[in-house]
Amino acid sequence: MEKTEGEIIRAKLDSDQSQSQISHLALDIGGSLIKLVYFSKNNGSSDDDDGNNKHLVLQGRLHFAKFETCKINDCIEFIRSKKLHLGGVRLHDAPASDKILVKATGGGAYKFADLIKEKLGIIVEKEDEMDCLVAGANFLLKAVHQEAFTYMDGQKEFVHIDINDLYPYLLVNIGSGVSMIKVDGDGKFERISGTSVGGGTFWGLGRLLTKCKSFDELLELSREGNNRVIDMLVGDIYGGVDYSKIGLLSTAIASSFGKAISDNKELEDYKPEDVARSLLRLISNNIGQIAYLNALQFGLKRIFFAGFFIRGHAYTMDTISVGVHFWSKGEAKAMFLRHEGFLGSLGAFMSYDKHGLDDLSTHQLVQRFPVSGTNAGEKICCPLVGDLNDNDSIECGVYAA
Ligand code: ADP
Repeated sequence: MEKTEGEIIRAKLDSDQSQSQISHLALDIGGSLIKLVYFSKNNGSSDDDDGNNKHLVLQGRLHFAKFETCKINDCIEFIRSKKLHLGGVRLHDAPASDKILVKATGGGAYKFADLIKEKLGIIVEKEDEMDCLVAGANFLLKAVHQEAFTYMDGQKEFVHIDINDLYPYLLVNIGSGVSMIKVDGDGKFERISGTSVGGGTFWGLGRLLTKCKSFDELLELSREGNNRVIDMLVGDIYGGVDYSKIGLLSTAIASSFGKAISDNKELEDYKPEDVARSLLRLISNNIGQIAYLNALQFGLKRIFFAGFFIRGHAYTMDTISVGVHFWSKGEAKAMFLRHEGFLGSLGAFMSYDKHGLDDLSTHQLVQRFPVSGTNAGEKICCPLVGDLNDNDSIECGVYAA
């Protein structure tokens, strides 16, 4: 029998964590997904300089995991069984477990605070969602090697980030809904726009229209589809020719799902994969265009797209990139993040330090892989081992400050 997501994570953790000690659990409880980040210290911490002239005092791994928000009880059980909650911060004057603080962000930090306290006996310390998103994005962009990339015509290209020339940028977080945030520095940002037509819309409408049982199934289905079966193209209106006077190719979509009105067909007459493809195109195009308009209004050239809607999916990224490129006439650039879904939880993770509650705050958590100079001095840096769209972990070292 196929293992469930929870079982796979559990098996992995059983082998990983028998030798380790958990600390700094942070949660981002969104409308669709709960994202967890936590650090596990390896026993027998090394005491060398790691070849970086820095004094390595601790080794460990930063772990990432996610659960559907509707399965919060599974998530709580997972936390309990692995004792992750004991890796929160103990209030100085309170030895009892009900005085342990765990950082959490997202609307669910409010909605589920009582449930978490009741089931795990810990206090949820709420962190602002936008603060966390921006902190997570800045951390990833400044500190993580090969975090940002462009995606065009099937080509993924890592972007070198000059940390002295990072701001301003537009952060477009595509979760259940979409937030567009102009970021001007650490903790300096403004939420300039958003749209309710986001990842939740894709998954919600897609589920109704295709009967898919999971988001990934819907995404997979869209790979095989042909949106031209349902979308009304310029060529459908112009008898197969371009509308060249205003630069519209005959293949451009004039109206998403527009053919469905004239075809005299029922939903069952369309292939689910074609429906999924049109829907993905509609949502991605729309977000790409709104993002571009905001970038234009605020004079921003760099747009970073994040959130679990993207899911590292080629067609999604391609559609967004082509949209931004087309509307900006090549002036603006769409970029994506490898840890796309974990910005908020990483921001919450780092907020332990902000409140002076952190036993790691006297040290620096730094990436452990041979990288020259550029990231030195950053607070937290981590290497990437493969893609981190799913539950995974990365190796870190903690260095004396
Ligand atoms: P939120 O914080 O609103 O939950 P996320 O960044 O976690 O936002 O993204 C949620 C979106 O990610 C969903 O609306 C859906 O489009 C997409 N998604 C990716 N994987 C899944 C999944 N396993 N279950 C549900 N939605 C998923």
